[in-house]
Amino acid sequence: MRIIVQKFGGTSVATAEGRQMVREKVKQALVSGFKPVVVVSAMGRRNDPYATDTMIELLKKENATPNKHELDFMMCCGEMLSAAVMAAGLQQDGLRAMALTGGQAGIITDDSFGTARILKIDTKNLMQLVSSGVIPVVCGFQGRTEDGLHLTTLGRGGSDTTGAALGAALNAELVEIYTDVDGIMTADPRMVDSAQILDKISYGEICQLAQQGAKVIHPRAVEIAMQKNIPMVVKSTFSDAPGTLISNVRDDGGDALIADRIAAGVTYLQSLAQVMVPLKAEDQQGSVTIFQAMADKEISVDCLNVQPEAVRFTVAEPDADAAGAVLTGLGYAPVVTKRCAKVTVVGGGMREVPGVMATFVSALANQEIAIFQTVDSNTSISAIIAQERLCDAVRSLHAGFALEKSAQPSLE
Ligand code: ADP
Ligand code: MG
Repeated sequence: MRIIVQKFGGTSVATAEGRQMVREKVKQALVSGFKPVVVVSAMGRRNDPYATDTMIELLKKENATPNKHELDFMMCCGEMLSAAVMAAGLQQDGLRAMALTGGQAGIITDDSFGTARILKIDTKNLMQLVSSGVIPVVCGFQGRTEDGLHLTTLGRGGSDTTGAALGAALNAELVEIYTDVDGIMTADPRMVDSAQILDKISYGEICQLAQQGAKVIHPRAVEIAMQKNIPMVVKSTFSDAPGTLISNVRDDGGDALIADRIAAGVTYLQSLAQVMVPLKAEDQQGSVTIFQAMADKEISVDCLNVQPEAVRFTVAEPDADAAGAVLTGLGYAPVVTKRCAKVTVVGGGMREVPGVMATFVSALANQEIAIFQTVDSNTSISAIIAQERLCDAVRSLHAGFALEKSAQPSLE
């Protein structure tokens, strides 16, 4: 059985026109000989009447601090409305479709409300439906606990995770992530006009891009698909563009990796604060004390840089004051710089290529953007900069790494 999982995001299902396009995509999959399993997000984004944020507001008007059970219960409603509407639409077209909650679709999670992890997927119901010619329309972003007592939600980007996890559990031939852009781009098109669609990207590259801020797909979804080597395609509900294939394998049938380009894209994270803590020479255990203190306060740290004379790291801006206070309490004199951002260039083939760091720093220097700190991995370089220079930095790096539409591809 050739199963395809088709996940449709909030903007795809928000309007009647969008849902009409969704129905067409499902029909195309049928015509191509696939058995579709549809996953839907809630309809629309913040401020839309049936969006998840709207549901939360309704609940919090009644009680600002509801129990976690009711909060997740409420957060499951948006997808339920969406799945019912979508299944009814497909039925209107003469197809056999059935709306299912995450739990009815067999998605079993732990009980970490709001950020639940999928423990297993019991595919019995889905397999029965699919093999009898019914199109399941599954609520994204949700599951249920093993004992069936609680509905749970999977956290930000959760519907992508549902799509990938169902794809893996059902051994799907392909997982399609439908959204409002034509594919994964070299930068966020809302910031960079000249961003272009990538026709292919490796699991590793998109995982890094997503972790470093690119909102187009959730990194957890990519990890799940990667584990079972299930190809994913990110594409638009509103066009016939082929989209971006996420896979490690080239078209030529060989097993060569596609991740050999210096730069695949530029991405960013905002609302960070940099913490710099000067160390005294006699304080040899300083970095241990500092990071243990952050851990004890449950403050996540990133971009760690430890040197004999100072420790530097970043925290989410809302944690900045708490981090500063804890360190001051321990007798340090931290310098906390708020309103920072992190810009990152990702490229599967940048390791050991001479001149990559030079290209990176000169792109920022050209715009007179001060670098507070850099961090790099085999496949990425990041800089911490002032948030007010973020747009200039992203655009300059995008141009500097020849990612613009008109530019020549940097490799191949
Ligand atoms: P959905 O509701 O379909 O899940 P999202 O808003 O989660 O849609 O993701 C799509 C959005 O991601 C696009 O509208 C685009 O603005 C944004 N985006 C950020 N970075 C990128 C990128 N590198 N490539 C494509 N889109 C990106
Ligand atoms: Mg999304």
